[in-house]
Amino acid sequence: MTKYAETASRQGNDREWLAYRSGDLHVEDVPLSDVATAVQTPFYCYSADAIRSAYQCLAAALSPSEVSICFAVKANGNIAVLRLLSELGCGMDIVSGGELERALAAGVPASKIIFSGVGKTRAEIARALDVGIHQINVESAAEVAVVAEIARALGKRAPVALRVNPDVDAKTHAKITTATKESKFGIPIGDVADLYAEVAAMPELEALGIAVHIGSQIHDMAPYRRAFSAMADLVTSMRGRGLVVPRLDLGGGIGIASDDTVGPDIAEYAKIIAETVGYLGCELTVEPGRWLVGRAGLLVTELLYLKDIAGGTMGILDVGMNDLMRPALYDAHHPVLPLHEPRTAVAVPAYSLVGPICESSDKFGSYEGLGELRAGDLLAFDCAGAYGASMASTYNSRDLVAEVLVEGSLFRTIRRRQDIGEMLKLEQAGAWQVPARAGQGMAERASDGAVCTPMTVGAR
Ligand SMILES: *Cc1c(COP(=O)(O)O)cnc(C)c1O
Repeated sequence: MTKYAETASRQGNDREWLAYRSGDLHVEDVPLSDVATAVQTPFYCYSADAIRSAYQCLAAALSPSEVSICFAVKANGNIAVLRLLSELGCGMDIVSGGELERALAAGVPASKIIFSGVGKTRAEIARALDVGIHQINVESAAEVAVVAEIARALGKRAPVALRVNPDVDAKTHAKITTATKESKFGIPIGDVADLYAEVAAMPELEALGIAVHIGSQIHDMAPYRRAFSAMADLVTSMRGRGLVVPRLDLGGGIGIASDDTVGPDIAEYAKIIAETVGYLGCELTVEPGRWLVGRAGLLVTELLYLKDIAGGTMGILDVGMNDLMRPALYDAHHPVLPLHEPRTAVAVPAYSLVGPICESSDKFGSYEGLGELRAGDLLAFDCAGAYGASMASTYNSRDLVAEVLVEGSLFRTIRRRQDIGEMLKLEQAGAWQVPARAGQGMAERASDGAVCTPMTVGAR
């Protein structure tokens, strides 16, 4: 176990790596304000130790059922983070060709990568087969046909699992619920066995199992029990038909605590897995994203201005919804920690914290207990290690946020800020091109001398 290892299986106020020392907020042994002196705000800052501890805690809880862990790269795709997890033995769950390249660049073997996602392109499927991907989680009959066609063309056998839609409501935010029957994800559970039999009969496909992922930021464990039980019943009935089902992928979605609440109990999650699917003898995999990195990162910002508004004071930050999208997209509330510990004796108002973006959804919520704020103060949004930097954009032509990793008493930039100079380089216009069809038309017209009419221009 690492220096600040979390021993509890519930994530609550157990983060020794994040603490005020002599009034300064430290990530491991690094004062965050020292990082802010070296790296311009806003930036994300992750604790290597916190990520390792989370992985080790989950791996320990799941080890009795021999469950392998594939990190959902979309939660945090920085290759330094991926490398750190990979070194611990973690595989990866990807949802795009870009994420495949990230995982490979981080040194993750293709044999430990699962390709999920509802809309894989032909180029992405071909690349995955080419590098020897561990498994493609296929989401429709149409995708089965395309994967088979590409495998045939490449002379390969594609390792396929079918993603099941079990019609289970994960009881989480509507925007991160993925397994009700109206959702775009997966194959309706009643159709899976027939399609699987077709896959098993195709020489260019290897039918390896079934997969499920019911949603994200899940705190109530009951939907997991329902979904995994449904998967167990499905495996049993498929085997009853003579189908071979060696692998079972249980997806991710475990929620994390924020503020002073405690998160879902990992021991309970592990117990549900053991009880519902443990007896099947399948190779089991889970695909957590948020749980491994969410509580391991902060987003550091500077307070630019204070402004009085009806009913209180507003703090305008140098961080916006483009840098941390979760509050605007999912109504998420991230705790805020001042980099210098507030003096508790002073009675202070609540502050409404907002970003600089020209959108009224660019706000982070109302915060108490921050002490008396002044322009120039540094603050950190907590629990921002997942779906923070990976969702950041350059909206409003703002720099793409930087990322920093702390390890003991050292820190380093693991993604430097992308500034407007770099963005503008991509917009140097190319030469005007003649569309292929117009080109043909022009060649014909050149030969017969006809004039271009509105009809020929508009024709498709
Ligand atoms: C997003 C996603 C995950 C990870 O979800 P978390 O809530 O971050 O654990 C796992 N599997 C699939 C298929 C996903 O789309």
